[in-house]
Amino acid sequence: MRRKLAAGNWKMNGTGENLAELSALAKAHPEPGADLLICPPATLLSRAAAAAPSIPLGGQDCHASASGAHTGDISAEMLKDAGASAVILGHSERRTDHGEADAEVRSKSEAAWQQGLTAVICIGETLAEREAGDALTVAGTQLAGSTPDAATGANTVIAYEPVWAIGTGRVPTVEQIGEMHDFLRAELVSRFGEATGNAIRLLYGGSVKASNAAEIFAVNNVDGALVGGASLKAADFTPIITALENA
Ligand code: PEP
Repeated sequence: MRRKLAAGNWKMNGTGENLAELSALAKAHPEPGADLLICPPATLLSRAAAAAPSIPLGGQDCHASASGAHTGDISAEMLKDAGASAVILGHSERRTDHGEADAEVRSKSEAAWQQGLTAVICIGETLAEREAGDALTVAGTQLAGSTPDAATGANTVIAYEPVWAIGTGRVPTVEQIGEMHDFLRAELVSRFGEATGNAIRLLYGGSVKASNAAEIFAVNNVDGALVGGASLKAADFTPIITALENA
């Protein structure tokens, strides 16, 4: 039985004044019926841990190396030290803005595990790839290339995020989400075996909001969501969390 997960990705948004949203979220969900994770900018991690100790925190990226001459980068150890228990890796904005490829995401995932962080590995096709009929192939290739061999249900979460749905208000149909998640589940079981393949959680991400959360969470093999814009305000994220608790 996979426990549901509602994860928020604040991206490059938020300063100290936004920590009030975290406190409000913690207050609204004192005993959540699903796992929660908020990934604020790294600059806020330690203050977020102090502001809302009950809410698990994650980073948005880490370097594949443990330390060294990598100006501007952040190691998994630093994220952990600042209060993170997880890290988003291979988000499409990292893949686009920083040219991150599957092999790098795989290395970063192993670096995250070294520090006991859960790797939230993001995959997903572009609109052109979907329109060309290549969505499953692209996502399957990213899944295979980005996920290390030692993945387990405890150290890894996969987030399927079609690039064309991120921040656009465009959402795949529930049939498209179901087809993709069933396919990814089958790929995980085929590679890792029944027990591990069925233990790794599969999140959907891309324009999830209060109005569409319930129908997305009803889809087979959707174990929760990675939410961008609608995770910034407690008032927007709370109904999504409630929909997941009720799914
Ligand atoms: C994301 O950034 O992972 C994301 C899904 O963003 P949004 O919910 O804003 O589409």
